[in-house]
Amino acid sequence: FQAWVQVSMGCNSKCAYCIVPTVRGREQSRHPGEIVAEVTSIAREGVKEITLLGQNVNSWGRDLAPSLRTDFGELLRACDAVDGISRIRFTSPHPKDFREPVIAALAECVSVCEHVHLPLQSGSTRILKRMRRTYDRERYLRLVDTLRAAVPDLALGTDLIVGFPGETDEDFDATIAAVEEVRYESAFTFIFSPRAGTEAASSPDQIPDDLKHARLERLVDTVQRIAAERNSERIGRVEEVLVEGPSRTDASLLRGRTRRNTTVNFKGVTRPGDLADVLVEESTSMTLRGRELALVDA
Ligand code: SF4
Repeated sequence: FQAWVQVSMGCNSKCAYCIVPTVRGREQSRHPGEIVAEVTSIAREGVKEITLLGQNVNSWGRDLAPSLRTDFGELLRACDAVDGISRIRFTSPHPKDFREPVIAALAECVSVCEHVHLPLQSGSTRILKRMRRTYDRERYLRLVDTLRAAVPDLALGTDLIVGFPGETDEDFDATIAAVEEVRYESAFTFIFSPRAGTEAASSPDQIPDDLKHARLERLVDTVQRIAAERNSERIGRVEEVLVEGPSRTDASLLRGRTRRNTTVNFKGVTRPGDLADVLVEESTSMTLRGRELALVDA
């Protein structure tokens, strides 16, 4: 009932720490007809949730023939129109390619989930420039405001790298400040490790390991505190959960994910693969806990 659908391969960006463009080459988008045919076929087999996958998923379509005149927003709309698909996710988008048609599709397509993974990498414009991310801190924060205005209950996740070459205390503080400002629901945090063949690997101003680890610890504390606060705001709400199976920690409970991509462990009766309405009663920084509404009403 869940499936990944590869929509493109390769990447035209040149992030200074990333080996993907060298290994995978330039971006190649699959033809929209081929993608929609695959989504239609797996929906007939019972798939309800798809995750569209690409190294830079929201630049999909730019390399296709000009006669097709399409973009990732149109692809989201085409997948949304497929019978049987009730949830659409996509990963990973690049902030620079989050343009108006994609935001409009996110806001208007019923199946597109209220969750965006939006890699920030660093909150320092100086480091973003060295990373060759092609956006600055202000542009990223404006995008966050635009996304939240379009989808008010949007959950945001991100990727963050600490210890990129040349990262000063001030640069790192700017990352912490950005995390405090955006208040992400979740974040993957990484220590920069030089990848042979990338521009950043040969930078002379590498950061000592002990400093990288100290920064990571502070970042993880901040991310977890905010995620716990964000999750606690869901207590008392009813969330639509796609049931995935038994809870990994308590076999008497079911486990699933909300549209906002938070794991929920709950007392319930719904079968894996079906949607359940769950009243959220408790939370941690990683998960929610609750009871299926059918049991609350009983
Ligand atoms: S980090 Fe992502 S956007 Fe940047 S080069 Fe690698 S795959 Fe492309």
